Order: sequence, then structure tokens, then C-alpha cells
Amino acid sequence: MSAQADKSAAFLKKVFRNFYQDNAHMVSPPPQPEAREFGYWSLDRWEMVRHLSFKSAEEVRAEIARVVPLHVYRSAAYYQYPSAPMEEKGWLAADLIFDIDADHLNLPCVSQHTYRICTVHGLLDADAKTCPRCGSAAKEVDWVCDKCLSAARSETRRLVEILVEELGVEEESLMVGFSGNRGYHVVAYSEDYLALDSLARKDLVGYLMCVGLSPALLGLPGRRTGRGRPRLELLPRPVLTEAGWRGRIVRRIYSILQKSDAAKELSKYMNILDEVRAAWSEEPDWTIAPYGFWAILVEMAIGQEALKIDPVVTTDIHRLLRMSGTLNGKTGLLAKKVPLESIEDFDPLTECVVLPRDSRVRVRVAYSPGFRLGGEEFDEILEPRSLELPVFAAAYLIARGLATIESS
Ligand SMILES: [Zn+2]
Ligand SMILES: [Zn+2]
Repeated sequence: MSAQADKSAAFLKKVFRNFYQDNAHMVSPPPQPEAREFGYWSLDRWEMVRHLSFKSAEEVRAEIARVVPLHVYRSAAYYQYPSAPMEEKGWLAADLIFDIDADHLNLPCVSQHTYRICTVHGLLDADAKTCPRCGSAAKEVDWVCDKCLSAARSETRRLVEILVEELGVEEESLMVGFSGNRGYHVVAYSEDYLALDSLARKDLVGYLMCVGLSPALLGLPGRRTGRGRPRLELLPRPVLTEAGWRGRIVRRIYSILQKSDAAKELSKYMNILDEVRAAWSEEPDWTIAPYGFWAILVEMAIGQEALKIDPVVTTDIHRLLRMSGTLNGKTGLLAKKVPLESIEDFDPLTECVVLPRDSRVRVRVAYSPGFRLGGEEFDEILEPRSLELPVFAAAYLIARGLATIESS
């Protein structure tokens, strides 16, 4: 690490330490902490430390306040010997976990806010490998915008809804947590899932992500499979209130039809679109449009209904996930639990700001897009310059790699 980076790491360590000293009670270890593996990213050694175990939640909190890590993780699994090497841990069970990350949602904005910068000379071309002025390697920085955050939030809400309404997961057993950066995790603390092995979890993931979903088996018009097309009038009628996959796809078709810009994939059928839309507002019916029309719509609907979860996280029964109530080292924001009933209104950019607002530090910003954080608006910084920022905003830019500390 360069001297500048060292100073910035020391700054983060100082503000993180102050936070944990005053707020250790916010650190929220999972149930049965004595059976969990813990891990963290060490700011001193700049490496991951794993296979830690503690006797109680209090011990976990004390260790975090003592070590002041950049990131803190805990296992979804319960082990007999959590601190043993992986093959000797004695796996007992694991909570069912899901991960939703804005990066997996195919959002068009993501490529627009992946920046390449030179820490000295600022923003570089999007494809630059080195800085043309000093030759140093370009540093890639991922940003997260409001669109990313609200897309991740609504995907999370959809996941919770499907878990509860279709899979019968008890609402009280679910814990939703914002990661402190650009995603959410959902944990089902339910005995029903503890013993599921990796394969069973994979099946669940397949259901949620519509892997191998066959429209024909659901009585929906789909692309031809070689056995010829079933006649539309022989298919079960589309019913908006139906439960499960079929109902969800029918409802999604309905909402695609309502949107005026639905037509790109359906351009060939422009002439009948209004008629179909009007008919479906009265009563959904397959027979009013050709088979090929519905095959396209069913495919679009499945694509939109498939949940964008990270399959690896759910199927890996030894997974570590970020611990709630700890700071995310990529942002300085709190990884925070979100009550189920308020997911829709949850605004991480205000509610997860926990670092000081009233003291300011001088930073050198290489580049920064305009952003809002902690109820304040910050202007875009196009050219590298030095300025004073409140600690929470300075930590945000430093942790993301867009700024370095000048004084503190
Ligand atoms: Zn440069
Ligand atoms: Zn975005």
C-alpha cells in the first residue's frame, strides 16, 4: 500500500473504532453464536481471518470493538467445532439464506457508473488500462446509484413475498438485512430448512429462478418443443388470481400488455395489441391472438418473474455472510436489519449513515459523481481537488476508493 492509502486505512480504522466503541450494542450476531464460524477482513494485516468462534454474542461484540475490522462475517451454518478447519468442523445445520445484489439485476446504469480512475489525475476513459499522464495502473471503482438500490430493494420484497406466499415460509422466521453497499440478504431462521443439503437448496433456487421452467407443463403457450403446438382453446384459461407459477406468469403478461412500451418484442403484432389489451382488461383469453404472440409474451413474463438471486450463496452450506450491525468497509454504511413491513420505504442512504455528521475532515477527491447521503446532497467533482467533507461522506468516498485523506 502507498503512504496515501496507509493514511486512508488509518482514517477508516479510527472512525470505525470510534463507532464500535460507542455502538457495540448495535452489532447483531446471529442466533446460537456459539455454534457459528466468524471471520473478518483485517485492516492491519489486509487479509481475511476465518475460523473464529466465540462463546456468546457479548464476546463477538467485544472482539469486533477490539480488532476493528473492515468487514465482519458469520456463517449461515451451525457447527460442532466452529473454529476447526473446514473438514473437521462437524457441520450440523445451516439457515436458508438468499443474496440479492444490484450487480446481478442487469441494470443499464451499472456500466455507466463503473469508473476508472488514477488517484492522482482523476477520471480516465472507461476502457483505460493506465493513466495517460503518469502511466500508473487504472483503478476500477464501482459506484451504486439510487436506481441500483431501489431495484435491489424491490427484488428483495418480491423474494420475501414469494417465500411467504408460495413456499409457506413463516414471516416471523425471516430476517432481511441491507448489506451496507448494494444488496440485501434474506435469512430464514426456520427449523424446516436447517437440515437441507446443498442439492435440496439448489432445487429451491431453481424454483425461484425459473430454471428449466416448461410453459407446456404449466398449460401455457410456449415455444414449440417438437411435439407441435397445442391448440389455444384446449389450454386452461388464463386466470389472474391463480396461485403459484401459472398465476404469476399470467399476471405478468397482463402487466406487460398494459405498458405502452411493451411492444418492442411484439412489433410484429402491433396491429392486434390494442385489441388484446382491451380484451384482457375484460377477461383474459388465449384465443384472441395467435400462438406465436403468446409464446413471446410467456417467455418475457418468465424472464421478468425469475428472481435474480445469487444461486451460489444459497447452495453453499458453508457460506459466510456479512453480519448485521457492522460497518461495510466499502462504504462506511451500516449493514442493517430491515423490518419486513418497511422494506418498501427503506432508504439505506439515510438510514444506514451512522458515522459522524458534525465533524469534518479534509480529503483529496480524485473524482466523484454527484450523490446524496445522510440527507445531504454532494456535487459531482470532475477534476481532482482537495475539500472538507463531513466524516460520513469522507469515509464513503475513501472506502469506495475515490478519495484519500489529507488530514484528520
Ligand atoms: Zn495519473
Ligand atoms: Zn445504478
